[in-house]
Amino acid sequence: MTNRLSWIDEELTKLKDTGFYNNIRTLSSPQGSHLIVDGKRVLNFCSNNYLGLANHPKLVEAATEAMQKYGIGPAAVRSIAGTMDLHIELEKRMAQFKKVEASAFFQSGFTANGAIIPTLVGKEDVIFSDELNHASIIDGSRLSGAKIIRFAHADPQALEEAIKTAPEYRRALMITDGVFSMDGDIAPLDQLIEICERHGVMSMVDDAHGEGVLGKGGRGIVDHFGLHGRVDVEVGTFSKAFGVVGGIVAGKAKIVDLLKQRGRPFLFSSAVTVPDTAACMAAIDLLEQSTELVDRLWANARFFRAEMDKLGFDTGVTQTPITPVMLGEVTVAREFSRKLFENGLFAMALGFPTVPRGKARIRVMISASHSQQDLEEALDIFDRVGKQIAR
Ligand SMILES: *Cc1c(COP(=O)(O)O)cnc(C)c1O
Repeated sequence: MTNRLSWIDEELTKLKDTGFYNNIRTLSSPQGSHLIVDGKRVLNFCSNNYLGLANHPKLVEAATEAMQKYGIGPAAVRSIAGTMDLHIELEKRMAQFKKVEASAFFQSGFTANGAIIPTLVGKEDVIFSDELNHASIIDGSRLSGAKIIRFAHADPQALEEAIKTAPEYRRALMITDGVFSMDGDIAPLDQLIEICERHGVMSMVDDAHGEGVLGKGGRGIVDHFGLHGRVDVEVGTFSKAFGVVGGIVAGKAKIVDLLKQRGRPFLFSSAVTVPDTAACMAAIDLLEQSTELVDRLWANARFFRAEMDKLGFDTGVTQTPITPVMLGEVTVAREFSRKLFENGLFAMALGFPTVPRGKARIRVMISASHSQQDLEEALDIFDRVGKQIAR
């Protein structure tokens, strides 16, 4: 018998038959160098917890103290009664950290893109978008109604060509990821910005995987290239290196001002909770106090990659702690990931359509929370599994 929902069973069956059904694993431990995954204790090389802040005692303490004073829920959208002095303080602190005039705090990085892009451009405008940009940039761009023109990945000449050949428009906005999360490569932001400036195109970078990682003390891609004051909008997240959850839009005060008038997730979705906001602030404190965690992250990443190369693995084109282990066929990558797990290491296999066909990989996420012993154990497991699986 068919009914109006039977198509859903067909969809689910199709996903399972074609191997695209995502079996979501369950954690029963905090984030850290090790996790308990589906009941098994394993080394964790899967998370975006770059600096080990997701379970840092200072963040836990800050969240607990703030809850004693403010409770938990904001109970309203920011523009009605949901803005606490905590939110304002966090926005000021983040603007200082990023060396920009102002910032606006959102529920997530995904949401931040859905707020800022439609604030800057609309139907009469165009967006020049790197072809590998994150899903939230794509969705935010679609929401804006602007014409979306994709340019070849990380290719400044392709951007310039796209600008020159674009149909007539009112305003234009270039958007790129800062660090691309599948390959770990860094956008050539200095060249992209130079082109935007020359052609009067607004510029925006989503630095979700660059914050807390690139630049001095983790100040991000703009600091990495020394482009302060030249990038119109920086979008970021508190859910990766900062170890919490939340999104940020940073830039000129007038942009943030308009965003708080027009950004729909700001106007129609409630503010971030008290403990999250306080924990984000504590993360900024830690980063401003010392570069130790960022330095350790990079030392770990360099060591791991060099040793993997010595073991004969292909770690692709990464320039960051995101370390892809290129394996070719998706079936091989999946088998590899399964064997790693059996041997006590959790790292994700990625295949088409997340990455191009024939470029399946294990994506190893390095963290400052890994000890030297953790890294050596991981290398040992990779070596062992590598010898079992024909590559
Ligand atoms: C992870 C990511 C996001 C989403 O951030 P959340 O805070 O988890 O919503 C947005 N943009 C990019 C480029 C990302 O990598």
